[in-house]
Amino acid sequence: MSFVKMFKSIFTRLLTTYLLIIISAVLLLSVLMTFFYSNLEFDKIHKNQLNAAKRINVLANDYIAGYLNKSQLVSNLNSIGYVSESGIYIVRADFRYLSGQKTLDIDKELMEVQLIDDIKIILKNKTVYYKSKYLKSYETYVVFTGVPLKDNGKVTGAILLFTPLDSITEYIGSLIWTIWLIALFAILISSIFIYITSRNISQPIKKMESAALKLAKGEEHADIEITSRDEIGKLSESFNYMKNQLAITEKMRREFITNVSHELRTPLTSIRGFIQGMLDGLIKAENMNKFLNIIMDEVMRLTRLTGEILELAKLQSGNIRLLKEKVHLTGLANDISESVKPLLEEKNQTFNVVCDESYYIIADPDRLKQILFNITGNAIKYTGKNGSIRLDISKKDSDFLFSVSDNGIGIPPDELPYIFEKFYMVDKSRGSSGQSSGVGLNIAKSLVEMHGGRIEAKSTPGEGTEIIFCIPDIL
Ligand code: ADP
Repeated sequence: MSFVKMFKSIFTRLLTTYLLIIISAVLLLSVLMTFFYSNLEFDKIHKNQLNAAKRINVLANDYIAGYLNKSQLVSNLNSIGYVSESGIYIVRADFRYLSGQKTLDIDKELMEVQLIDDIKIILKNKTVYYKSKYLKSYETYVVFTGVPLKDNGKVTGAILLFTPLDSITEYIGSLIWTIWLIALFAILISSIFIYITSRNISQPIKKMESAALKLAKGEEHADIEITSRDEIGKLSESFNYMKNQLAITEKMRREFITNVSHELRTPLTSIRGFIQGMLDGLIKAENMNKFLNIIMDEVMRLTRLTGEILELAKLQSGNIRLLKEKVHLTGLANDISESVKPLLEEKNQTFNVVCDESYYIIADPDRLKQILFNITGNAIKYTGKNGSIRLDISKKDSDFLFSVSDNGIGIPPDELPYIFEKFYMVDKSRGSSGQSSGVGLNIAKSLVEMHGGRIEAKSTPGEGTEIIFCIPDIL
């Protein structure tokens, strides 16, 4: 795998980004800590040197005034030098060496140009401080502090203090070591966590990708395992839901095609048979009318079926526009009664309309009739002989309620949630009567929703069904 390709994967991208952030943060922190602690140590030494310088100033003045002799001065300087771990030199303003804690060749020391320059600065009443300065005679690096020697505010010389860096470097070295060891440990631990987190994020996405590919090719795929409750977990959940919905739709589509082709083939076969019979002169003239009526019935069946499919396609593509107007509901209910009369008579069923008041609604009258016709038609279809159907129209708050109830065969509870889905038929064998296609309620639902309403069903198998829908009153 090429580097570019590798970097395209979410896992490597997450891992590298996280690692870069963590490593740079830890490194930066370590550098800052090292710098901070070393500075703290240098400042401590410098402060010690300044304190020592104050005491040296008093001793030097006492010596110059004759209160102390040379050996007393040297022994005092020795003890100050011991406590502050420093070498001490006192130089007078005329560059004559006044005294030091040890007998040292200060002249050789002063030969160092840099030191002479420093003394010149100190004599101008300034403090000089180097965190690290190489001293030839010490053959090492030292912390150097030089302060003016003063008598009654007047600069009379310079006090020079050197603390060898060896002990500090040792201390700072071990400090840096510890800091970097902790940093390394932190990077190691966080790398493990980062690796696990990155994998947990990328793994389900990878699985979803391969599952999506399989689905696209029409292959089956098991549910994606849900390993977390976060956004990725929710995405996997939605993916599984989508996959199952697709499977349901696909199953319904196949069933529908099987049904529709069967529904189309049956009437077509009989129409062809009868026409062939007529053409071959097999049907007697006195029977001609009877067979033409049968052909007519079959043609009507085909027309209804293709009409429904066309309607569904129009609704799905959003090609239907409502032509709303003020509709008188009692009048509309009477129209429905008239339309379903032949169907009712066939089964000797009764149809009652209950609408206490004279309501007006703003709706598309043809579409509202279509909704009611589909629902009432079902009630008639799925109710036995001598059954009774009832249409209730009422108003609740700002909604018109329409309820169509029957005392027919009912719908099993586990099938009830699906009856509004397209092509869904409770009993697939019912479809063979030629009266079912599983789209009637889906069309009704879409039309109710286009009117801003809702639709639902209640049913008890063996007792009957009630389909209720509401449409908001916008008058
Ligand atoms: P269909 O053309 O099959 O009637 P619908 O979409 O109108 O299609 O209805 C979907 C399914 O719901 C039907 O197949 C039927 O099983 C069930 N159904 C609808 N209305 C009723 C009812 N009033 N009584 C019993 N079952 C019903």
